[in-house]
Amino acid sequence: MYSRGPECQVMSEYSPTDLRFGAGIWMFGQFLDRYATDGYGPPVAVCDAIRLAGSVGSLEAVDLNYPFWDAEGDVARIQDALLQAGLRASAVTPSIYTREFRGGAFTNPDPKTRQRAVELVARATEAAYALGADYVKLWPGQDGHDYPFQVDHGRVWELALDGLRQVAEPYPGMRFAIEYKPREPRIQIVFSTAAKTLLGIEQVGLPNLGILLDLGHSLNAGETPAEAAQLILTRSRLLGVDFNDNFRRWDDDLAVASVHLMETVEFLLVLRQHGWKGLWQLDQFPFREDPVAAARASIRTLTALHRVIDRLDLAALAAAQERHDALEAQRLVQDALFGNFIDDHPVR
Ligand code: FE
Ligand code: FE
Repeated sequence: MYSRGPECQVMSEYSPTDLRFGAGIWMFGQFLDRYATDGYGPPVAVCDAIRLAGSVGSLEAVDLNYPFWDAEGDVARIQDALLQAGLRASAVTPSIYTREFRGGAFTNPDPKTRQRAVELVARATEAAYALGADYVKLWPGQDGHDYPFQVDHGRVWELALDGLRQVAEPYPGMRFAIEYKPREPRIQIVFSTAAKTLLGIEQVGLPNLGILLDLGHSLNAGETPAEAAQLILTRSRLLGVDFNDNFRRWDDDLAVASVHLMETVEFLLVLRQHGWKGLWQLDQFPFREDPVAAARASIRTLTALHRVIDRLDLAALAAAQERHDALEAQRLVQDALFGNFIDDHPVR
């Protein structure tokens, strides 16, 4: 039978105390879109956002955008705010996707802009070291193209990989996580899927490059998130996970499992089967909801789904999967989800 390796034998050792939650700090900030360009709600200073994140209660860490909004480069103030909120930095995310880089960061046709992107990531990396962050997150959302014939695809691929090499090579002690996403803001983003991002990472060949798998981006990319996770985990390139949900057409960043319940359970199962012990990080955009309540709702759901997997008959599921028995596999997951509320023979 297919074996996932020794780390997969640890399932029964899991308990809810193993659940460690984090969140992107943007979840507690101000939301803008192209219609509400002055924002939904008033601007929120980064230290206030950190305080709000702390008030969720079960968050351990936050992923921080760099520069730090109202406190550019002021690592000490950020550190202090984190300490007071009972949080730490899971990641620092350099803003290589803003107006300055609208024509691309690593793939910008202007070599000076490419250089500025590399320098911005270097400053963010120094901040990540100072804050003791787990990794620097790269979201090259402007790297790609919008129109057929706009770019030489070979050249853009080369520049994208060159950018990765330039930021990661000088810092072998820091990990760099690429967060892939199919679209927005660039219409076609270079690092759009798990497979393409892995291909790029393997081509660059640096051990400190990996992937942040955003569940919603994977859904939006048309992937099966569990399969994407499996691909990345078997290559030991999974550095972080972002949780959220969407209707698949767009990166809606809704509360976890609000739309794709079954696929979220399958995704969580694969993480557990591979012994994933990283943070369960929330990446939501609660435009019309209270962000603290939205974070708590997702934490509640994730904790419940964790218990669902505890109840899952894994041996029976493995046997069903060996036979590719779809209905039996679904029934086993439904039993774990619905418990006593499900009746095997509802029509009599
Ligand atoms: Fe994300
Ligand atoms: Fe997102």
